Amino acid sequence: MEIKTLSQLDLQNKRVILRCDLNVPIKDGVIIDDRRIRASLSTIRKLLAKDCSIVVIAHLGRPKPDQKNNLSLAPVAKRLSELLETEVAFSEEIIGIKQKTDSLKTGQILLLENIRFLAAETSKDELERKALSSELATYGQVYIGDGFGAVHRKHASVYELAKMMPHAAGDLIITELGVLEKLTMNPNRPYGVVLGGAKVSDKIGVISNLLEKVDLIAIGGGMVFTFLSAHGKEIGKSLVENDLIPTVKELMKRAENLGVKIILPTDIVVAKEFNAESNATIVASDEIPKDQMGLDIGPESARFFADEIGKCKTVFWNGPMGVFEFNNFSNGTRSVAQALTKIDGISVVGGGDSAAAVRKLGFSDQDFGYISTGGGASLEYLEGKELPGLVALS
Ligand code: ADP
Ligand code: MG
Repeated sequence: MEIKTLSQLDLQNKRVILRCDLNVPIKDGVIIDDRRIRASLSTIRKLLAKDCSIVVIAHLGRPKPDQKNNLSLAPVAKRLSELLETEVAFSEEIIGIKQKTDSLKTGQILLLENIRFLAAETSKDELERKALSSELATYGQVYIGDGFGAVHRKHASVYELAKMMPHAAGDLIITELGVLEKLTMNPNRPYGVVLGGAKVSDKIGVISNLLEKVDLIAIGGGMVFTFLSAHGKEIGKSLVENDLIPTVKELMKRAENLGVKIILPTDIVVAKEFNAESNATIVASDEIPKDQMGLDIGPESARFFADEIGKCKTVFWNGPMGVFEFNNFSNGTRSVAQALTKIDGISVVGGGDSAAAVRKLGFSDQDFGYISTGGGASLEYLEGKELPGLVALS
């Protein structure tokens, strides 16, 4: 798939429609983590250097008609302006603003309100999406796609709009793709993948696709109990997806045939309740009491995972090892993160909660090879799926 970059498109003096991923966590009007905004700056600066004017389109969360107020991009316009040290205008209106965009002068930036406030953006009906993108297309002369976190969505501003205009990918998408290519084309070996998080169903496709490419898969988090259960172990009140047990058994057999090591925790931190104050006890992974639930991998497992990670030259990590949001259950995630910071090779962290976890636990972004801005998008890429937003840019 050949994707045009910024330097391959004539951008001088153009009015650019720029699709960014500015989907940042906001609490009580305050941006908690502005990493996605920062990740968008490189492209914006390059466009400004080419004397462009820029109409920025982005989304925030998954608005329902009744909760629009909490999901306005207005605070993002302000933060973007601070980071760029230049004015960023904000338009509450998204439709019927051609006059406004036509009057933008060189160097001016206009951020439109949350594009998902319009149902057509995410509509299943292609005609509805096309009607919206036709309107948006009148706002500029060229389209730059840089919202990596949204490229797995067939949405009007990601897919149809890109297709109907001269287009290229921005720096963030190119960077993210470069990293993902390192994980899929001739990665340095040993190549290990660490998976955790809440649901097996979210990650099963990745495990399946990566089985052919990796040497080692370490599994923790809530999803590990479906694996332990598939091994016939008692898992108490832990999270489990019983319908996936046959699939998990099949995966384990395939791994064995391929000589891929799947490592599971040998000890588990359990508690009676899903609660920050719950008393944490460590038990062997085949001795989880019936009335307790596993909320983290145990210390012996954490050391073992860290040792195995330490031997790798390429590591991709997605999904916390436990409920890192509660201090008592964050140690497994901390150990894995620590191990990733030390490897002699490339370490990549993907997934919104995993990225949040390493920050919460006090690591800095520079401790890792790369922290992806895209959760679902990176996973779907690694699953080998076609991503609509990239297809549209190719
Ligand atoms: P990411 O966003 O990095 O892809 P996920 O969304 O898949 O990660 O999973 C993150 C969530 O998984 C976290 O909120 C964490 O609390 C939860 N989690 C991890 N381990 C467990 C567990 N043992 N039981 C329940 N939830 C868990
Ligand atoms: Mg998540």
